[in-house]
Amino acid sequence: MSDLTPLHDRLQSHLTRLRLVRVREVLDSLLEDAARRKVSYADFLDELLKVEVQSKQEKRIRMGRSVARFPFERTLANFDFAFQPSIDPRVVNELATCRYIANGENVLLLGPPGVGKTHLAVALGNSAIEAGYSTLFISAAGLIAQLEKAERENRLDDELKRLCGPKLLIIDELGYLPLGRNGANLIFQLVSRRYERGALLITSNKSFGHWGEVFGDAMLAAAILDRVLHHSISLTIKGESYRLKEKRKAGLIKHSEVQQ
Ligand code: ADP
Ligand code: MG
Repeated sequence: MSDLTPLHDRLQSHLTRLRLVRVREVLDSLLEDAARRKVSYADFLDELLKVEVQSKQEKRIRMGRSVARFPFERTLANFDFAFQPSIDPRVVNELATCRYIANGENVLLLGPPGVGKTHLAVALGNSAIEAGYSTLFISAAGLIAQLEKAERENRLDDELKRLCGPKLLIIDELGYLPLGRNGANLIFQLVSRRYERGALLITSNKSFGHWGEVFGDAMLAAAILDRVLHHSISLTIKGESYRLKEKRKAGLIKHSEVQQ
């Protein structure tokens, strides 16, 4: 063992300098395992590098998720497509390939409360992070509060620049509250800045025909819609709220009470 120690120390030091953190952690067991199984040099190198690549990938995804600030953890795997037949799983699976992000296109998820818009938005956000795209999730109300604060503090330009950083920006619940003239104007500025530069994923409970009311100004709504819809994919979800279904299953409400 003693004559192996300098070699072992040297390996540890190389791995540290190369930042192969995971390999350094599991080096001894990898070496023992390779010796026992008499694997080829190439196979050993392959296993060693795979360990590091996987660990770095996992770390990148963990970081990406924490930066994205999702409101909850959801994936496509736990979305029940059978419950919401108005959604074509093929369209959602195509979105999960993230081609729309590479093309700088936008996605709109429209539908009444509880039908899974935020769930799908988070799931697609996760797909984006896994594919290596920086992602930020923000509610429309939170977004406007941030932009208004930045405006008051004379740093609106910096804030708009920051919001143009992520390759995918998810704006949730646009339309739940009327925006007010200033809020609508700030959204317009953001949409204009990101136009053809980065993808937007927007969820809303209002169909496009009602965006004039949401933005409090038909012209401004038209200008925003023009940019958002130019390169876009819209999914309109119809059907029952999943939350109500869960409640009904638990016997808390009767079927006749959930007609919306
Ligand atoms: P919305 O944003 O449309 O109001 P959410 O996405 O917040 O609705 O969905 C409400 C809750 O129901 C969430 O916990 C979500 O994960 C769950 N949910 C909604 N639709 C489905 C579905 N089809 N399969 C599994 N869970 C669902
Ligand atoms: Mg929602």
